[in-house]
Amino acid sequence: MPNFETHIAVGALTSALAVATGSAVFGWDNASSSLAFLAGLSGSMIPDLDSDTSKPLRLSGAVVGLGFAAATVGFVTSNGKFLNRPWPPVGAALAAIGAFFLFNSIFVTILKRRTSHRGLFHSLAVPFLYAGLWAVFVSNMGGRTVMAVWFLGLLGVFSHLILDAGKSLAFNPLKIATDDLGASTRLWLLTALVNFLAFTRMTLP
Ligand SMILES: [Zn+2]
Repeated sequence: MPNFETHIAVGALTSALAVATGSAVFGWDNASSSLAFLAGLSGSMIPDLDSDTSKPLRLSGAVVGLGFAAATVGFVTSNGKFLNRPWPPVGAALAAIGAFFLFNSIFVTILKRRTSHRGLFHSLAVPFLYAGLWAVFVSNMGGRTVMAVWFLGLLGVFSHLILDAGKSLAFNPLKIATDDLGASTRLWLLTALVNFLAFTRMTLP
């Protein structure tokens, strides 16, 4: 199977080409282009979150851990009666380290337990779910940015699935569902909901 480096390289190349085309043809500004590139590049790693040993899993575990650590520092250093805030620097640092390891291991454990490699994470709903989440995330930045980010997100995940499909006939990453029809249905419903939210909140330029 294509490894992590191959997926990143193809994802980066595809995203760069698409962003160059988007800014030339549709006049995407720098912010839209950078966000779209980020969405495309990260998208090329998303499907392998289902692999228990994958770099994307460890990488996103670290990002989630860091996010919670930063939020914890923000909380314990703010003023407030609850938990006697603000905390001194040493206490805040210890709390941050604790939050990092706690949320890192929760995230990694859940993904390891709840996913099987090349199951639903390698199916057609995932590019649309991923792109839709990005679109919701940037929805207050205007229609042009939403479209750029949505499109690149879609393209990034597809670059991964197509690369996998080209290398192996043993499984089909471009499938609509798996044997677990309940989980497949929930995934598509969530995907539809997220995309509906993204596009109804979007204001056209
Ligand atoms: Zn894969």
